[in-house]
Amino acid sequence: MYEGAVQDLIDELGRLPGVGPKSAQRIAFHLLAADAADVRRLADALTEVKLRVQFCEVCGNVAESERCRICSDPRRGDDVICVVEEPKDVVAIERTREFRGRYHVLGGAINPLDNVGPDDLRISELMTRLADGAVTEVIIATDPNVEGEATATYLSRLIGPMGLTVSRLASGLPVGGDLEYADEVTLGRAFEGRRVVGS
Ligand SMILES: [Zn+2]
Repeated sequence: MYEGAVQDLIDELGRLPGVGPKSAQRIAFHLLAADAADVRRLADALTEVKLRVQFCEVCGNVAESERCRICSDPRRGDDVICVVEEPKDVVAIERTREFRGRYHVLGGAINPLDNVGPDDLRISELMTRLADGAVTEVIIATDPNVEGEATATYLSRLIGPMGLTVSRLASGLPVGGDLEYADEVTLGRAFEGRRVVGS
């Protein structure tokens, strides 16, 4: 449609999640019209994030060194692990200020339609963490949708026999949605009212 560099930019933007062809075109022309300094900052931020940010060796959250801020914090409890799908869910739960334990980021949810099975998630890493005996409760905070529920059921069957308390966030979260879209109060209440699931 366009020539060379402009079309390359539109193609790259169009590969981003949630950006359709029209949005890609709009962003590309916005960048073309923007100040060179502003575009430079955006380009630098993209380069920097790939250079500096890695995934925490313990929990899988985003980190700027081997361990993330939460795993390196000695004031947080080691007895409870909250299992989430993505790093953005850690941010959503941290906003509620209800939780002072540690996290485990799975990197997604079980989704047969997208060929995502248990082996594609950080489940074996979770089992290794649970095996050291410090953890007494696992809170499963996967998204309140079909994939999140399937993942929660799979995990509770796997963890239950280990003699740990496995709990799931209380209902009241918008069904079918993403954890990150729940407001702090709702998510905080769901956390407080979490229920123990069968072993
Ligand atoms: Zn971590």
